[in-house]
Amino acid sequence: MSLFQTIDTPVLSYEQPLGLFINNEFVKGVEGKTFETINPHDEKPIVAVHEGTADDVDIAVKAARTALDGDWKKVTPSERGRLLTRLADFLERDIDTLAAIEALDNGKGVTMARGDVTASAGCLRYYGGWADKIYGQTIDTDPNSLTYTRHEPVGVCGQIIPWNFPLMMFAWKIGPALATGNTVVMKTAEQTPLSGLYVAKLIKEAGFPPGVVNVISGFGRTAGAAISAHMDIDKVAFTGSTLVGRQIMKAAADSNLKKVTLELGGKSPNIILPDANLEDAVEWVNLGIFFNHGQCCCAGSRIIVHEAVYEKFLELFKKRAEQNKVGDPFHAETFQGPQVSQLQYDRIMGFIEGAKGAGATVVTGGDRHGSQGYYIQPTIFADVHEDMTIVKDEIFGPVCTVQKVHSEEEAIRAANDTNYGLAAAVHTMNINTAIRVSNVLKAGTVWVNNYNTLHYQMPFGGFKESGLGRELGSYALENYTEVKTVRVHLGQS
Ligand code: NAD
Repeated sequence: MSLFQTIDTPVLSYEQPLGLFINNEFVKGVEGKTFETINPHDEKPIVAVHEGTADDVDIAVKAARTALDGDWKKVTPSERGRLLTRLADFLERDIDTLAAIEALDNGKGVTMARGDVTASAGCLRYYGGWADKIYGQTIDTDPNSLTYTRHEPVGVCGQIIPWNFPLMMFAWKIGPALATGNTVVMKTAEQTPLSGLYVAKLIKEAGFPPGVVNVISGFGRTAGAAISAHMDIDKVAFTGSTLVGRQIMKAAADSNLKKVTLELGGKSPNIILPDANLEDAVEWVNLGIFFNHGQCCCAGSRIIVHEAVYEKFLELFKKRAEQNKVGDPFHAETFQGPQVSQLQYDRIMGFIEGAKGAGATVVTGGDRHGSQGYYIQPTIFADVHEDMTIVKDEIFGPVCTVQKVHSEEEAIRAANDTNYGLAAAVHTMNINTAIRVSNVLKAGTVWVNNYNTLHYQMPFGGFKESGLGRELGSYALENYTEVKTVRVHLGQS
């Protein structure tokens, strides 16, 4: 099988790299395997890509180690920043192509995908700005010593990303890693390998030395597991399910105790209090759960509404959800495309059927949309109680529950009644209430009168079982540096 292929999308044709990207070259996998990636809109294969397994991870790690100790070490911090900025420029230059790839491979609406490209470029440019601003401290302990700290790269970083934001997760991961002088072995998700390979081509064009970023298309149990257990990878950064997050931590502990950061699942609450601006709140609640087809780790999937506004809220929310444009990702006005895969479609429909069986009321949706592709109707359940699976488990689809509560205290208790802690929101027009409630919500991000408004300058990550460490903002830089203390004896007694 060849290493490149022309792909025709409904809006443009482009040349898609298909090989693994190691040492700035596209290559076949050692075992000679390939796998197909499926278009979730028509359920047909788009193309086959080369598959990486443990041996390929090994080769990529060697390339990353050689670069770390060689050419990449010689690149000044300012030049690292310039390379990241140039890569950001190339993402923006190729926005039409990258948005088309995401729409084709992931199923997200092409207009939403353009937003992902812009945000990814912004993220890379932001970290490019940080590259020459990584400082240690000088610490005055006594007149006879000079003590200072250096923030050194951790080393070779394994990065394992999911399929819900293929391009953006790639940018979130490489931005802070490269700004701080590390090298990367990236494993993309098996459902969505195409944008990562296209960016690999841009990485070479931007002028990064060979081996600095290596991209492996492959499966979790083989390539992913090889990364988390590798003895010469210094750090692993993972985004995905809590189940796999646990396995990665175990593998890190059982191998070389590599550093671990995890960005995992969620079951995030979205609280509506009696004094909320209901029209605005409904807009944010709709975006909070249905954006990206519910395939967001921070999706606001548990809507908790005070009884004083419950009936009105439900009426407005039902009306709003039914206006969401569900359909072909290549239609510019599409808000919700298909779910990413048959597996995800089946999982989500399983949750929906389970909730119906458990006695929850379908307010709207609750079924497949159309007859082809992995489309699911925007679905709202009411009359749920706290121990129902639909209220407890992460669904990762366009499905939410609306719970009625009788007081602010009950809303807070219900919101925190979860093993997760990624995000939360409160809608109220009273600033004191907003701050009081946000202070006690156990979540890494709390939105007040908005939802899902991530920004690369803002740290993002989870309390409790939603993860370890923070991505984005200056906080992410800490995950990618080791602090070295140097103490110089000045020779006087
Ligand atoms: P997953 O956690 O299995 O996959 C995410 C990534 O981890 C992929 O690149 C996958 O290949 C890799 N992986 C899988 N098993 C691995 C292993 N043993 N070792 C190392 N890497 C491994 O997620 P999924 O199966 O694609 O989706 C399942 C559920 O996970 C979803 O329904 C959703 O609840 C959750 N999820 C969360 C996020 C998030 O952003 N937090 C993203 C995707 C999925």
